[in-house]
Amino acid sequence: MTRKKVLLGKREIKKGIKRIAGQLNNDYNNKSPILVGILKGAFVFLADLVRELTFPTKIDFISVSSYGDSTRSSGVVKITRDISIDIEGEDVILIEDVIDTGLTLSFIYDFLKRKNPKSLRICAFLEKKVERAKKFKVDYRGFLIPNKYIVGYGLDFSERLRNLPEINTMEF
Ligand code: 5GP
Repeated sequence: MTRKKVLLGKREIKKGIKRIAGQLNNDYNNKSPILVGILKGAFVFLADLVRELTFPTKIDFISVSSYGDSTRSSGVVKITRDISIDIEGEDVILIEDVIDTGLTLSFIYDFLKRKNPKSLRICAFLEKKVERAKKFKVDYRGFLIPNKYIVGYGLDFSERLRNLPEINTMEF
């Protein structure tokens, strides 16, 4: 038996998007960064975010698989789809749906850093309140949320529920 409860509704999500977009529009005014979304979860966030941006952008995606059970990151990450745009010498913003252990993000961050971008920043819609072994700076963040399993707004439960418009906590 599983139970869902709305954590962030449509209006709150919209406000979060506007807030992050405002910060990005300010910081990247007169620049043309490349946005790299982490598949699959970030696709909804990225789609909403880019439509609020006032500077020119290019968009790419990166996909990783992480081993272990589906509700917890194992830390062993493999790139299954690399970006196709050359980011050397470019401003890059890495777009993540939710940071839990941070292992996925820090792996991808290091992987992209080796491609020598001019700058590389992190934009995460959600960050869970957890102690992390490896600390890193989240440059743009939508919401700090409790350490619970969430679904909707791009986030899945066994590949389902990504289409829910709200962010829901899921209790098992
Ligand atoms: P991390 O490596 O930070 O532990 O996990 C990052 C990835 O695991 C996220 O990009 C997301 O795809 C997935 N993930 C982490 N927490 C959750 C969650 O609560 N719900 C869902 N559906 N996916 C999560």
